Amino acid sequence: MSKEITSRQEDYAQWYNDLVLKGGLADYSAVRGCMVIKPYGFTLWENMRDQLDRMFKETGHVNAYFPLFIPKSFLSKEAAHVEGFAKECAVVTHYRLKNDPNGGGVVVDPEAKLEEELIVRPTSETIIWNTYKDWIQSYRDLPILVNQWANVVRWEMRTRLFLRTAEFLWQEGHTAHATSQEAVDETTKMLEVYASFVEEFMALPVIKGVKTESERFAGAEETYCIEALMQDGKALQAGTSHFLGQNFAKAFDVKFLSKENKLEYVWATSWGVSTRLIGALVMAHSDDQGLVLPPKIAPLQVVIVPIFKGEEQKAQISEKVAPIIAALKAKGISVKFDDNDNSRPGWKFAEYELKGVPVRIAIGARDIENNVVEIARRDTREKTSVSMEGLTDYVSSLLDEIQENMYNRAKEYRDSHITEVNEWAEFERLLDEKGGFLSAHWDGTPETEEAIKEKTKATIRCIPLNNVQEPGKCILTGNPSIQRVLFARAY
Ligand code: AMP
Repeated sequence: MSKEITSRQEDYAQWYNDLVLKGGLADYSAVRGCMVIKPYGFTLWENMRDQLDRMFKETGHVNAYFPLFIPKSFLSKEAAHVEGFAKECAVVTHYRLKNDPNGGGVVVDPEAKLEEELIVRPTSETIIWNTYKDWIQSYRDLPILVNQWANVVRWEMRTRLFLRTAEFLWQEGHTAHATSQEAVDETTKMLEVYASFVEEFMALPVIKGVKTESERFAGAEETYCIEALMQDGKALQAGTSHFLGQNFAKAFDVKFLSKENKLEYVWATSWGVSTRLIGALVMAHSDDQGLVLPPKIAPLQVVIVPIFKGEEQKAQISEKVAPIIAALKAKGISVKFDDNDNSRPGWKFAEYELKGVPVRIAIGARDIENNVVEIARRDTREKTSVSMEGLTDYVSSLLDEIQENMYNRAKEYRDSHITEVNEWAEFERLLDEKGGFLSAHWDGTPETEEAIKEKTKATIRCIPLNNVQEPGKCILTGNPSIQRVLFARAY
């Protein structure tokens, strides 16, 4: 069997790739940096997407769709924005191919050159704000609370499955408001939505904070983020929410007539999470046997594997299992009965472990006599013999327990990997030996931030929200500092 998985200890990066590929989440594709999301991985994404979508709608947002292409001139209208994204843009220059008269197959038709080149959207602020200009005239048109589910392209040089791809799936919220305060409130509200989604559904604790100026979104006044910790001690930016001020309104001349009858620029936010979250999920929870998926978003929550010899036993088990399946489904639990004859139970066990199915139920002829089943939970890999009476309730509460245990385990790891550091030598040593978040004083300058990055590859992940203001000395320069910030090496 070619499903051997590299252990985390041996090679963490390879372990991750093994899980994504062999766990059936995604494949590499013919296009550099772009991946194929396979059905199992896509179901996982759909479950995440559907839940997030519910949460967006509960907070008053609606979905819309804007074009994939952005005229090049639009991108240039906001100076910081274009500077940030120019380096990674895919550009459409022509709209037709033709047969090469010299027999070289099809070639770009030089006569079909676009008058204005089009950018494949790396994010949609510009095309959306160009549209909002037509949608907004007065304060009565505000707020606009729109979200889009889409793909975007950023020509990343160093890509990794899910974590950083050239094309990725995401949602991008783009809201327009009458006041600065309203826009700031929206930005933090969506950060809370992200944090509660990731914690409650992905069982992954996050730190909420703001980015420093140099890590800010290109075109934003303030970038809020949630940061998570992976099992190798590296951090991952799991989501961002930007307060855009009036930057895009000014770039696209979007003004509204206020209640006081004054013409004012509109205030904006944007916020997004991407398929990167799947990478976070894999890296934070899984083990050397395979994926470990939180029950609340797992594509499949329960698998039932019959253990039988011959058709008669198989039929007997199937009959016994049918009402169990019906009862589980009635409770909204997704369940699969794998009575496929082509593979042995041991193989199936390994396969479902690899795929991270939270609960496995095995049932054999002797179990039927004793009216029990064997239940294995994926998170701890513990096995228990459980009576068939009340099995549905047992499974239902076990799924809750697994969800909670996964969160607690990840939180324990995270909490034990936030270290206060006051000496430079210690800072460097901890990054190499322990990883995680290092809480250290910083003098507040981009130069120091850059110097620390140069020396250690650690970046400021965020300044946590409600950070304690505590005077101290910068970890690198010794200059005065007003607060600690969180450093880490990151994906
Ligand atoms: P941004 O628009 O840069 O704030 O990014 C929005 C979200 O997309 C954040 O949660 C990022 O972590 C995520 N993201 C950014 N670049 C990539 C990428 N190349 N692949 C996958 N996710 C990404």
